[in-house]
Amino acid sequence: MRLFFFLLGVLIFGSQAPAWAEAPVVCMQPLGKHDVRLLKISRAGIEHLYGFRIRLLDGKPLPLVAWYAPRKRWRAEKLLDYLDGLSGHDSGCDYMVGFTSRDISTTKDEIKDWGIFGLGTIGGPSCMVSTFRLGARKATKRKKAERTIKVVNHELGHVLGLFHHPKKGCLMEDAKGTIRTVDSEHGLLCPDSKAAIERRLKLRLPALESFDFDKVIQGAD
Ligand SMILES: [Zn+2]
Repeated sequence: MRLFFFLLGVLIFGSQAPAWAEAPVVCMQPLGKHDVRLLKISRAGIEHLYGFRIRLLDGKPLPLVAWYAPRKRWRAEKLLDYLDGLSGHDSGCDYMVGFTSRDISTTKDEIKDWGIFGLGTIGGPSCMVSTFRLGARKATKRKKAERTIKVVNHELGHVLGLFHHPKKGCLMEDAKGTIRTVDSEHGLLCPDSKAAIERRLKLRLPALESFDFDKVIQGAD
């Protein structure tokens, strides 16, 4: 009889346990010179696509260990190491997004130092975004804002475990260093990418029919 009640108790407890986890906290860390308007727009972009909670951290200087003197820019993988060190149990940050308007680079195939829009560690906890190259091809203020949103959400997708997606137009398409690819993306995750994140985090991401750039950009301005 006692065993019966015990089992019943477990069953009831099991059925009342929350089915979905709480939304994670993304900490946005400005590093060095950065565009405050684009930072706020990126924040709104993460909230719109992922529905995560965001903490805007106070700015810090870019860590000198990441300085690459021959090209006068900052090595992204070293910035990721630095951001990893800022996250952790007592930080209150599940994921870190570093944000700068200085030029960042990494090694790509045979190219020792290749300038990039952003870099994220697959599975996290950190990614790094630079707006330095996002004004290319005489972009309007609006175009630069859209690109920044897409690059931040793309890098965060890597942090959430996603690899590149072969389908054109999806957020996780490999930009291959070309701003035209970023411009051709619609801003949403492909359905299978979205489902993979939902499984990983045990929560539902917002159901969006399209990425509402007007709402995100005007709401943050
Ligand atoms: Zn990527």
